Amino acid sequence: MPVVSGNNPLKTGELIPLMEDFYHEQKRVWDDFAQTCAMEKQRRVIGVGDEIIIIQYNPQRMGNIIATPPSAKVGCFLCELPAEQIKLTIAEDFLLLCNPRPIFSEHFTIAQRQHTPQTIIPFLRVFFSLARGMAPRYCLFFNGLNSGASIPQHLHFQAVPAPFLPLNLSLRLISLGDKGGVTISLLDDPYQRQALCLESDGIASLAEILTEIFSITSNLLEKLPTPDAPFNILVTANADGRLKVLLFFRAKPRPSCFYAAEPQRILVSPGSVEMGGCVITAREEDFLRLTRPMLEEIFCEVSFSRKNMLKVIAALGL
Ligand SMILES: [Zn+2]
Repeated sequence: MPVVSGNNPLKTGELIPLMEDFYHEQKRVWDDFAQTCAMEKQRRVIGVGDEIIIIQYNPQRMGNIIATPPSAKVGCFLCELPAEQIKLTIAEDFLLLCNPRPIFSEHFTIAQRQHTPQTIIPFLRVFFSLARGMAPRYCLFFNGLNSGASIPQHLHFQAVPAPFLPLNLSLRLISLGDKGGVTISLLDDPYQRQALCLESDGIASLAEILTEIFSITSNLLEKLPTPDAPFNILVTANADGRLKVLLFFRAKPRPSCFYAAEPQRILVSPGSVEMGGCVITAREEDFLRLTRPMLEEIFCEVSFSRKNMLKVIAALGL
């Protein structure tokens, strides 16, 4: 059984065969899950070249899109798993699970064994080690509190095939420089998503710079919307194991159109998948009517201002 720790990081791609077999086995023994996986997912493409956004229609994701904060007295979906759900230990304290409502043909949840809040800072090294272990086939992502996490009361990461997210395939970057063994760039995005791209061979270097960025961001914002930093983190690695981290800075969890009265309401709740360029809709009317200007407005609204991004960059000394 693979074991991950700060001293024993996974090799590039080491987890891929295990994850493929695991997904196949889960479908074999859980009919409902296999049927959900087989459901057709309609897609539309907006934009061309490196400006592509995919709109995807996933009716079974409605529960995730409209999920409310954990104040409601409901059970924890990651503690109370269905009897058919297979669990596999892939790190000392993490379990590999198949997401029961998959966004793509494969969609994993990697959950902390214990019921622990969705905060990543103490787990950055394990997170990057897991990302390298499942790369380059899969990308690993984390949705921070109020940044798209639908089960924010229980620490978990998710993994999907990397090519399904357009930003994993094509990225426009503005180079900012190197710091502590990490190459740092700013995402140059026509949709106004505000993100830094961090690239390094070193897990410790990445963990260190991210911790510094979290601290800078906490100090910068007069009042944080949550006790944790408002980020989506999307990680891939190339065949040599060099990690690429996209760190999206979030201003709010949902756009105002989510709360608008019908028929203006659009149920889009951006998390890492959306920030990565694939917008999930659970209602056909939303799937059909989203336009590029609407997407620009949604991404701009849920992202940091450019002014605040420049403050973060200045505080990093770049
Ligand atoms: Zn739980």
